[in-house]
Amino acid sequence: MFAFKQEISEELAAIESAGLYKREREITSAQGSEIETAEGPALNFCANNYLGLADDSRVRDAAHEALDQWGFGMSSVRFICGTQSPHRELERELASWLGTEDAILFSSCFDANGAIFDVLLRAGDAIISDELNHASIIDGVRLCKATRYRYRNADMEDLRTQLEAAKAAGAPRIMIVTDGVFSMDGSYAPLPEIVALAEEYGALVMVDDSHATGFVGASGAGTPELFGVTVDVLSGTLGKALGGASGGYIAGPQEIVDLLRQRARPYLFSNTVAPSVVGGSLRAVRIARHADESRAVLARNAELFRSLMEQAGFTLLPGSHAIVPVMFPGMQGAVLAGRVADRMLELGVYVIAFSYPVVPRGRARIRVQLSAAHTEEDVRRCVAAFTQARDEVLHR
Ligand SMILES: *Cc1c(COP(=O)(O)O)cnc(C)c1O
Repeated sequence: MFAFKQEISEELAAIESAGLYKREREITSAQGSEIETAEGPALNFCANNYLGLADDSRVRDAAHEALDQWGFGMSSVRFICGTQSPHRELERELASWLGTEDAILFSSCFDANGAIFDVLLRAGDAIISDELNHASIIDGVRLCKATRYRYRNADMEDLRTQLEAAKAAGAPRIMIVTDGVFSMDGSYAPLPEIVALAEEYGALVMVDDSHATGFVGASGAGTPELFGVTVDVLSGTLGKALGGASGGYIAGPQEIVDLLRQRARPYLFSNTVAPSVVGGSLRAVRIARHADESRAVLARNAELFRSLMEQAGFTLLPGSHAIVPVMFPGMQGAVLAGRVADRMLELGVYVIAFSYPVVPRGRARIRVQLSAAHTEEDVRRCVAAFTQARDEVLHR
């Protein structure tokens, strides 16, 4: 045991000396556009709380009511005695919103993505994945026996090359999987082109819309709605815009959902989503479906932030999504981004810097996430803090 602990300490020290050690900041308030931390109060610009529902009183009330009516826990997986009416109600609500035949809940989207490929694809089939896809897709792909192909981010030439390779290998089933929105870049997957290629090659398309459902598309139904296309399977999370508690889902054709209920290992062997979370999430989904006003505020905030930051001389990755990467390129970028973020917290604005290996070397950034809960004044304060922190850090 001593040697083992020694080795682990060395591993931790290596993480620390590489500058990759993650320290968790304790928040001493509810999640929201303004939070309390040990360092003082801060405007929060790094939550996935796109619609501001994380601490919405209607969502809290619904969670309270569900707690009282349906109890704290189910102590069961879904297929034994873990399915209450609200679980099915939430699945049907998601399906009707997303325009699919049915949906199935998981404890997280990580679990949903961990489950699906092994259920739908067999040895000899092909799974073709965008290189920037979320870790849960990468892990889910690893768990299935299909042959793996990877294409360069949003590169349709390369996707075609991989489709050709899968065809040449004689794969009976071919599935393309992509994030709807790439979370480090705030960029959209080119769904119309992907869907067209899939049709040409007889492939299925799956989109993980975790950073889109609720606030992208006219009714918040995500990237397929934004682009006006239909995809075969969707996965998503309840842990971001949709109240931000926990849970994930797969939405798609009845047969796929039915088979997942039979075969998906994280569904069969892991506890059901807690009743209060289901109740709160159901309310959050119903609010999100009709949150035109919040979507408009969010879009305005993102647009205002982008234009003020550009006027202040910052380099942003182009786009329109509520994720706005503020770039700190070059060899010193990682250090600068970290210092700017630290100084900003002292100035009362909470943002997070990302550097290698989360993003490519030389492409360090501070990823800002706007929320409908931010006011115009909040956005202006964020830009002012960026400007002051940058000027201080650069001239020190
Ligand atoms: C956040 C995220 C997940 C994980 O969702 P959880 O429900 O928190 O497990 C999966 N995929 C993508 C694209 C995400 O952004």
